[in-house]
Amino acid sequence: MSIKNNINLLQRELSEKKCKLIAVSKTQPTEKIMEAYTAGQRIFGENKAKELERKWNELPKDIEWHMVGHLQTNKVKYIASFVSLIHSVDSQKLLEEINKQGNKANRVIPCLLQVRIASEDSKYGLKYEELLTLLETVNDYPFVKVTGLMGMATLTEDESIIREEFTQLKQYFDDLKSKKFSKNIEMKELSMGMSADYTIAVELGSTMVRVGTAIFGDRIKK
Ligand SMILES: *Cc1c(COP(=O)(O)O)cnc(C)c1O
Repeated sequence: MSIKNNINLLQRELSEKKCKLIAVSKTQPTEKIMEAYTAGQRIFGENKAKELERKWNELPKDIEWHMVGHLQTNKVKYIASFVSLIHSVDSQKLLEEINKQGNKANRVIPCLLQVRIASEDSKYGLKYEELLTLLETVNDYPFVKVTGLMGMATLTEDESIIREEFTQLKQYFDDLKSKKFSKNIEMKELSMGMSADYTIAVELGSTMVRVGTAIFGDRIKK
């Protein structure tokens, strides 16, 4: 299957469910990204700040760039002026730095808070209690807008585990939606689902899926 075909099929499948496609293009060369672009894809995701900055410089300016991977505080400065959404905010320190860089760039930076739902402890993300604590402080960061949550399920063949974890995240999302927070918090996006599990995620209420290999094929190993 070609990149164009993959994009077209995914777009069709997801638009019925009102779910957005983030094409995760990390490690992929410009030509492959342009193939997806030509097929109509406009939202791309990366997991390294420097690579994201380089691709933003090289590629068409109507692309929406999302940061989907773990972000170190000292790298926020590379992407603050243009990034459309940071999916992976998982600490007060990071939120503070995004606010600082947003202020410098004179723009409000949209962010998702990353929640830990997977059982393996290698995964990044906030526990529910930490999430609540962090949400209480968002009012102090006027150059940040929190627009929802992100989570990654355990890497497993066992679909029941994935279902359980996504259901948990959707539950958190719905609970927070009905709560009153500061005006720079609006719970509208739920970023869950990757190549291996996006179908389950969409069924369970995802509004954004982050799909890499199912579009571009295997990543170049470094
Ligand atoms: C790489 C990556 C993806 C895409 O993974 P695929 O399995 O290639 O679809 C999604 N989300 C994050 C955070 C990633 O780092």
